[in-house]
Amino acid sequence: MGNLTMGFSHFAHRTLTELAAISGVCRNPKAGLRILMYHAVGGEAYGDFFGNYTITPEHFAQHMDALRGFEGANVVPLGLESCGGGAQANIAISFDDGYLDNLRFAAPILIERGMPFTVFVSSQFVQEQHAGFLNPEDLRELAELPGVMIGAHGRTHVPLVGCDDLTLAHELVDSKMYLEDITGRPVSTMSYPYGSVDRRVLDAVSTAGYQLAACSHIGINQAGRDPLLLARTTIFGQDSVSFFRRKLAGCWDWYGCLQRDSLHREN
Ligand SMILES: [Zn+2]
Repeated sequence: MGNLTMGFSHFAHRTLTELAAISGVCRNPKAGLRILMYHAVGGEAYGDFFGNYTITPEHFAQHMDALRGFEGANVVPLGLESCGGGAQANIAISFDDGYLDNLRFAAPILIERGMPFTVFVSSQFVQEQHAGFLNPEDLRELAELPGVMIGAHGRTHVPLVGCDDLTLAHELVDSKMYLEDITGRPVSTMSYPYGSVDRRVLDAVSTAGYQLAACSHIGINQAGRDPLLLARTTIFGQDSVSFFRRKLAGCWDWYGCLQRDSLHREN
């Protein structure tokens, strides 16, 4: 979800990334696991003032065709076995928040191409049937589709760092239990709303029983990356196919060096 700062900085980042691409820093996909982060596909993303976090279904299909044709890249499900990176350039696809359009528009495009994907869902949006989000029946339908994994995204989509201990436990445990009840499957992955995570949150995520958690730090996951702090590559609705290819090749990764990543525990 966007805010004013992200909207303005987006344009500066885009310019620098174009320069990185022109300079030839990133010609080939890097080895490891790159997790793409999308939000809405065809609908409106919550709090998205600049329209960065929604992409039309047609444009999303173009991205997926570019991904399929990206030499050296291998689309994989998000799982413990893939989070260690390895020698291949593995790509996992993820969506945050739990929009209904993920089921209606994104899923058919991905299934047609045989691409697995993960949807991180804020459980209260489902439970209270917020407009534009998956309702319980939609969620069950999505979870049943081939190659789909459902992960949690907190209960109410608040930044977890600001929660007191009790609220934090509810955000992590209640969302997990609710999603497991609805889908009938274990939920062991999550993503942090707003990328909000610190040491206390990380410990609570581990205690709640999650095995994988994705943050909003930009980069590729290679051997030694903490599975509860997986980096992702944000994809914006305005990203052209050529720009998308550059993100796949790692041209955006320079920005990760500027992000605060004090929790990252590399071996
Ligand atoms: Zn979110």
